[in-house]
Amino acid sequence: MKKKNKEIVLRTIITNAPISRADIAQHSGLNKATVSSLVNELIEEEFIYESGPGESSGGRRPVMLLFNKKAGYSIGLDIGVNYILGIVTDLEGNVVYEKHKSIHNLSFDEIIHLTIETIKNLIEHTPQSRYGVIGIGIGVPGIVDKSGKVLLAPNLKWKNVDLLDIIYHEFDYPIIVENEANAGAYGEIRFGAGVNFHNVIYISAGIGIGVGIILKGELYKGMNGYSGESGHMTIVVDGEKCRCGNSGCWEAYASEHALLHQAKHILPDATLEELIKMAEENKNVKDIFQQIGSYLGIGISNLIKTFNPQQIIIGNRLAKAKHLIEQPTIKSINEHTLDFHQKDLQINFSKLSIYSAALGVSAFAIENFLSIGKG
Ligand SMILES: [Zn+2]
Repeated sequence: MKKKNKEIVLRTIITNAPISRADIAQHSGLNKATVSSLVNELIEEEFIYESGPGESSGGRRPVMLLFNKKAGYSIGLDIGVNYILGIVTDLEGNVVYEKHKSIHNLSFDEIIHLTIETIKNLIEHTPQSRYGVIGIGIGVPGIVDKSGKVLLAPNLKWKNVDLLDIIYHEFDYPIIVENEANAGAYGEIRFGAGVNFHNVIYISAGIGIGVGIILKGELYKGMNGYSGESGHMTIVVDGEKCRCGNSGCWEAYASEHALLHQAKHILPDATLEELIKMAEENKNVKDIFQQIGSYLGIGISNLIKTFNPQQIIIGNRLAKAKHLIEQPTIKSINEHTLDFHQKDLQINFSKLSIYSAALGVSAFAIENFLSIGKG
């Protein structure tokens, strides 16, 4: 009970700071003596600190309390198919250090090695603080079970990889492994385009396509955590072969992989960034982006009709091509959904760009750390 109350006090401060002890009591419904003693403990533990006096309606000005975002630091890692992005954030999700690595045709062992090296580098660059590294969150483009095992990541060619265990073997910190689209969705509603939205579908359009579903402000993960595998919904019967083994999947038509595949005859081994540049003067390349946008809109239309969301957020690498794909995507959505569904619907591109998933997993690690009410 005491732990629970302590967490309530801490959360009240995080959400409302700067705030006085009296206002915490009012917000939380706890009595003043309880608040006062829990506040003293939290100050002792350096989770919060006192600032100068705040505004008062008369009489003695109360001392205000603030959250100490530098009490510890979180590590967020996004393992993509062609990149690894690592960040260190403070407890409010501000990035204080980052490391980018492009990867190309690496073996499983090489990717794991690079992941471990990246984490070591991030730990080395974490500022000194009371609690140091409070946890590591890792996002992966695949189906992840509750124990942090990656059951299937077709674009990485991973099957039954106990990633949490492998990383925990190297680093003695709390570790969370999560699907990158779920992480990206959470990152966007906490820090990005989805702040103030409650029913959000986040489309992670990279080499594959993953979907993160936010319902009533919370991440919907499905019974075992496998929801949002919409990149493999069939949009063309007997269509293009997909890396999951089926054919006609959405991501075989609307992902970065589909784009690179279609551009192969124009410029073999081109990167997304090179194609974006080429599209400025090459009509064929521009057309490929338009087609990707149209197909992106088809899949999104299906999701809109299923969920009737408030907001769609298009994120991950393809969001870099916003200026090329936005119009065809919206046109395709308008053509394939009913007016009822389009009403009040916002279609936005990610605000956090390539950071959505890394920030999301970092935030999961922070949430875990701050859940002092559990246990
Ligand atoms: Zn597929």
